[in-house]
Amino acid sequence: MSDNAAGIPRTRGTLFVVSGPSGSGKNSILALVRQSMPDLVYSISATTRSPRRNEVDGVHYWFISREEFAERLAHDGFLEHAEFCGHLYGTPRAHVEEALASGKDVIMDIETRGAQQVREAMPDAVLIFLMPPSIEELRNRITKRGTESPEVIEERLRKATEEIPLVFRYDYVVLNQNLEEAAAMVRAIILAERSRVAKCDCAAFICSLSGQAKDSGI
Ligand code: 5GP
Repeated sequence: MSDNAAGIPRTRGTLFVVSGPSGSGKNSILALVRQSMPDLVYSISATTRSPRRNEVDGVHYWFISREEFAERLAHDGFLEHAEFCGHLYGTPRAHVEEALASGKDVIMDIETRGAQQVREAMPDAVLIFLMPPSIEELRNRITKRGTESPEVIEERLRKATEEIPLVFRYDYVVLNQNLEEAAAMVRAIILAERSRVAKCDCAAFICSLSGQAKDSGI
């Protein structure tokens, strides 16, 4: 069972769900957050899309066939799943549930319909939406990535205009104007959530304080 920043034991782990349109900087922000919070467990999604250059199976995604995806879905292997721009994406259930049960915090990067499914399955999950500063900036970032065809870029931008109004279903919104500042905001949210009284074992901590008081004759 992990402690919060103040050293108070916690009763269970928290699930942090991060969504944002393609090009909103999710991957870069999550990389910075994970670097500075190595105790966070990252949920590696399964997808039927092909790997981009530099993407590694088992690191960025589990790259699987549509048949395997269907098979896992039929066996309730996904906590949530969705189709996005012609490809299937899903969160392997066991990894997340085991980490949370052992008191670890889990973070995942999923699109808006999947986030909604997580909200229904785990109402105390914390949903964070990464907001791009403008559609033009989204276009620049996706184009600069150089991994998508012009048609796919247009489809992802169209998708972004559908996803942005869904921010009202989230608990927090973080504007990604500057990468470091946005990562610091996400870290601040995680630290604040770790300090929620309902998620801390304050009773155990008070018992230990009472023991100390008795030992020192107070
Ligand atoms: P990309 O193809 O750019 O890696 O991801 C496309 C979209 O799928 C992104 O919005 C990303 O957050 C989302 N995504 C990645 N993994 C999952 C997942 O396991 N479930 C859902 N619902 N969406 C995912």
